[in-house]
Amino acid sequence: MTNAVTAATRIAAVIGCPVRHSLSPALHNAAFEAAGVDWIYAAFEVAPDHADEALDAMRVLGLGGLSVTMPHKEQVAQSVDELDPSAAALGSVNTVVPLPDGRLRGYSTDGAGFVASLRAAGVEPSGRKAVIVGAGAAARAVVDALYRHDIAEVVVVNRSPEPAFRASLLAHERGRVGHLDDIPDADLVIQATSIGMGTTDTPFDAALLRSHHVVADLVYHPLETALLAVAREAGATVVDGLGMLVHQAALQQELWLGRSPNVGVMRAAAERELAARG
Ligand code: NAP
Repeated sequence: MTNAVTAATRIAAVIGCPVRHSLSPALHNAAFEAAGVDWIYAAFEVAPDHADEALDAMRVLGLGGLSVTMPHKEQVAQSVDELDPSAAALGSVNTVVPLPDGRLRGYSTDGAGFVASLRAAGVEPSGRKAVIVGAGAAARAVVDALYRHDIAEVVVVNRSPEPAFRASLLAHERGRVGHLDDIPDADLVIQATSIGMGTTDTPFDAALLRSHHVVADLVYHPLETALLAVAREAGATVVDGLGMLVHQAALQQELWLGRSPNVGVMRAAAERELAARG
């Protein structure tokens, strides 16, 4: 049963465009309810170029927290009062936290959420060699987080060379641009392109995958992508993309409420929502 909304209820929300397919309300509200806290989470469709007004509204309305999704992440990074180091490195914010003095601080929890999902699967990135296929916004967040968690090397493989180079710079001296033939020597193989979303396509020949690999796919619909299915068959350790989604949301709640939510409850809510969508 959903908590009764009172004058004391704190409100958090996501802004994006489009936002109606966001899983965030289901994840966050399930965790609020399980924790018995007087918070609710809503979704606001905010048109492109109106992120600054949404931040003003956050201040005026006293929202307890804000999630930010496309296309507002870069604008919000420009407009908040201060940035966490990851958000500053990426120039992108997915979480806004109101500080006690009324200023707004921006964070990027996507990369840390990815690392948390690896750890939840028993995989520690420190000292490992990673190949990441893709160099978009999600890949950039992962490269930054792997660098911050002492990865030994991150090789970025992407269709377009320029984004690959820019993403590799986020891992500083431990990043470089590479090719698919870097995969056999890697410990960790991360699929961060949009390929596989709602299809059985794979972005590279999955026959390259072996039992020594940890294979993570950022795509979570379907939950077991064709790439992960082949990786599992090859004996690899597989990490699905829903873990990243759930853990980045859990980190948001830690920032807003100062307490860790129940990630199992969040994941179950996300799985129910995905199953309902077919
Ligand atoms: P993005 O910024 O648009 O980047 C897309 C990436 O995919 C680029 O590297 C692009 O390469 C590559 N790509 C797209 N189509 C391709 C094709 N046909 N062949 C080869 N490469 C192709 O997207 P994003 O935000 O990084 O998201 C990437 C995926 O991660 C999406 O499926 C998204 O749903 C998922 N994601 C998951 C989570 C999570 O929590 N699990 C979080 C964020 C995103 P080019 O540079 O050559 O165009």
